[in-house]
Amino acid sequence: MATLSLNTSIEKIPFISTSWRQKLSILNILTVEDLLYHFPSRYDDFSQFKKIVDLLIGETVTIRGQITEIKTKRAWRRRMSITEIYVADDTGTIKAVWFNFVGPLKYAKKDSFVQLSGKTSISKSNELQFQHPNFEIISQKKLLLEEAVSTNSTSTGSIVSIYPETKGLTSFWLRKNIKRILDILEVEESLPKELLKELKFPLLEDALWSIHFPENSTESALAKKRFAFEKMFLFQLKALSVKANWDKNKAPKVKFKKKLIKDFVKSLPFVLTDAQKKSAWQIIQDLEKTTPMNRLLEGDVGSGKTVVATLAILSVISNKFQAALLAPTEVLAVQHYEGISKLLHKLGFKGALLTGSQGRIGQEKISKLKLTKKIALGEVAFVIGTHAILQDNVKFKKLALLNIDEQHRFGVKQRAKLQQGALEIKDGLKTKIPHLLTMTATPIPRTLSLALFGNLDLSIIDEYPKGRKKIITKVISSNNREAVYRFIKQEIAKKRQAFFVYPLVEESSKISQVKAAKTELENLKNGPFADYNLGLLHGKVKPKEKELTMEKFKAKEFDILIATSVVEVGIDIPNASVMVIEGAERFGLAQLHQFRGRVGRGAHQSYCFLITSNNAPSSTKRLHIMEKTNDGFLIAQEDMKLRGPGQFMGITQSGIPDITMESLADTKTIQLARTMAQEFLKNDPLLKKSPSLKKRVDNITASVHLE
Ligand code: ADP
Ligand code: MG
Repeated sequence: MATLSLNTSIEKIPFISTSWRQKLSILNILTVEDLLYHFPSRYDDFSQFKKIVDLLIGETVTIRGQITEIKTKRAWRRRMSITEIYVADDTGTIKAVWFNFVGPLKYAKKDSFVQLSGKTSISKSNELQFQHPNFEIISQKKLLLEEAVSTNSTSTGSIVSIYPETKGLTSFWLRKNIKRILDILEVEESLPKELLKELKFPLLEDALWSIHFPENSTESALAKKRFAFEKMFLFQLKALSVKANWDKNKAPKVKFKKKLIKDFVKSLPFVLTDAQKKSAWQIIQDLEKTTPMNRLLEGDVGSGKTVVATLAILSVISNKFQAALLAPTEVLAVQHYEGISKLLHKLGFKGALLTGSQGRIGQEKISKLKLTKKIALGEVAFVIGTHAILQDNVKFKKLALLNIDEQHRFGVKQRAKLQQGALEIKDGLKTKIPHLLTMTATPIPRTLSLALFGNLDLSIIDEYPKGRKKIITKVISSNNREAVYRFIKQEIAKKRQAFFVYPLVEESSKISQVKAAKTELENLKNGPFADYNLGLLHGKVKPKEKELTMEKFKAKEFDILIATSVVEVGIDIPNASVMVIEGAERFGLAQLHQFRGRVGRGAHQSYCFLITSNNAPSSTKRLHIMEKTNDGFLIAQEDMKLRGPGQFMGITQSGIPDITMESLADTKTIQLARTMAQEFLKNDPLLKKSPSLKKRVDNITASVHLE
C-alpha cells in the first residue's frame, strides 16, 4: 500500500471502512492529521507482566496464557450477556468476565493464546478474577517468550491510551488503527528543527508515537508539551500575521484635545478609577496613530467601561470625525444612547440612535432612510445602535471609531463579521479604516487573552469604582423560596427593586423560556406578590415594548422585573438591589456573575439569591464560590478549572483542539510560543522559507477571534 502523509484524507485509507469513516467525520476527523491529533485523554499502565500464581488482589497488570474454556450466559432478567473466559499459564488459571461485550472477544476460541490487561478483583465466590480486562489474541511464539516483549498489541501489555469518550468510537479501535497508520506514515516535520532543538522537544514523528503509544509517562508528557506548544505557536504565528495585515491599513489620526477631555472628565459625577484612566489614555494614544487601533477593553461587569468608551467617542468627534457604538441588543443600545448622548449633547455634539426597529436624532424619531442619509452626509457625529449599523445601506462620511460593546455576546460568526465590518465599512475616508475598540465583560486573565486574542492590544479595567459594596450572595434551596420573597418585600418597602431571572438553558427553546417567565409572572402575581407591580421582559417581546418596559422599570413603575436571560447584557438600573436567579445550577459561574452584575450598581447594599433544586454537593460547591467572591477574574478562573477554558469561553465549537485548551491554562507555554513566533517572523515575516508551516498556519480557520 502507498504511504500516507498527514494530509491524506481518511477516505483514502483502505483499512478504514465507510461506517467508521462516518463516525470519524462526525468528530470532524477528515484527514490523517485530524486522526493523529485526536489525542488520548489519559493512559492505563499495563506494562507490568505477571504469572497467574503471583497475582495479588487489586493490581493493574498483564498476563499471558491460553484459553481453556469459554462460557457465554444470558442473564435474561437483567437483559445482558455474560462472557466468561478461563485463561491458564504454566502456573495457574484465572477467570475473566465481561458483560455485554463483543469487541475482539468474538475471535476468541478455546486454545487461543491471549494477553489480558486489567485490574484483578475478587468474585462473589471468592475467586481472583479480571472484570472487563483489555484483551488481545497473540501468537503462540510471543507467549513462549519469558520476558515482556513488544507485540503488535495496542490494548494490552503496555501503557495503553484511553481516548475521550465519543459516540461509537472506541479506544480499542482508535489504538489499532492509529498504530496501523503510524506504521506507514511519512511524517513531515511541522516545527522548525532549530526550535525543537532549543526547546528539547521531540520530532513530530517521535512525538506522535509517544503520545499514542508511550513507553513511559515521561515520554508522553514531553510529547504532550510539544503538541501544546506547537498549537500555540501556530496560533501565535496566525495572530501575528493577522495583526501584521491589519497594521498595513491606515486610519485617521485623532488628535488628543487635552483641555476638552480634561474638562469632560471633571464634569463627570464621579472620579475615574486609575484603571479607567489608564485604559482611556491607552486608547487616546492609539487614536493618535495612523495605524488603526485594534484594542480589547476588558473589565468586569460594573467596572465602568462605558465612560471609557465615551471618552474615545468624544476624542473622535471633537476632531470632526464620526464614531459608532454597537451593542448586542436593542435595550442596551437604547440605554447607551440615552446615557452617552446626555453627556455629549451638552457639549454640542449631535448623535443618533439606529437599531433594527428605530432611528432617532437627539430625542426625535426619524425614519431610518433619512437617518442613513444624514449619516452619509456627516451630519451626525456619533451613531449608537445594534448591528443595524453594519448594514450595507449605512455609509459613514468619515468614520474614525467603531466601538463594539459586549463583544462576547455576539455569536462566534458575528464576531468575525464585526472585525470584517470594520474593514469594509464604507466611508468617505477612502483608503482609511476606522479604529476598532471592542469591549468585553468576560474577565479573561491577561495571558489567556494573549493566547486567544493574540492580534489585539489589551486594556484591562481591574478595579471597581470606589465605594462599591460587595453583593451579598446566597445559595438557596428551592424549598426556602418563601424566605427570599419575604426579604424582597422588605427591600421593596425601602423603595428598592428586584430582578427575577428565569433563564432556561436551551437556546432553541426561546418559546418555552418565554412561557416559563410568563407562567412565573402569573404565579407571583396571583401568589406572594399580589400587591406589587410586576413587569415582564423576554426575548419575544418587540424591541419597542422592551424599551418601554425598561423605562418603566427605571422609573420605578415596577417593583419586580421578571426576565429571561435578556437581562444578562449590561442593563444599568442602579436602584435595583436584589437579583433572584432560578435554576442557578444550570449556569456557568461566569454567566451567573454576569447576571449578578445587574445589581450592586448603585449606592445600596445589593443581594443575589441563587435558587437551586439540585442539592448535590458537586453542584452546590460550585455555586458556593459565588457566595465567597465578587471578583470576576477569580470566578472566571474557578469556572475555567471546573469546565475547561473551552466551555467557559464558549469556544468549544470553534475547533480549537483539546490540547490547546489545556495549554491555555499554561501561561508559560503561551508566553514562550508568543516570543518564539515573534522571533520567527522577524526573519521570515511571510513564512516564505517554511512552506509547510505556512500551510498549517493558513489552515487555522478556528481562530474566530482573529479574523
Ligand atoms: P460596565 O463596565 O459593566 O459596562 P458601566 O460602564 O455600565 O459598567 O458602569 C457601571 C456603573 O458605574 C454606571 O452606573 C456608571 O455610571 C458607574 N461608574 C462608572 N465609572 C465610575 C466611577 N469611576 N465611579 C463611580 N461610578 C462609576
Ligand atoms: Mg457595559
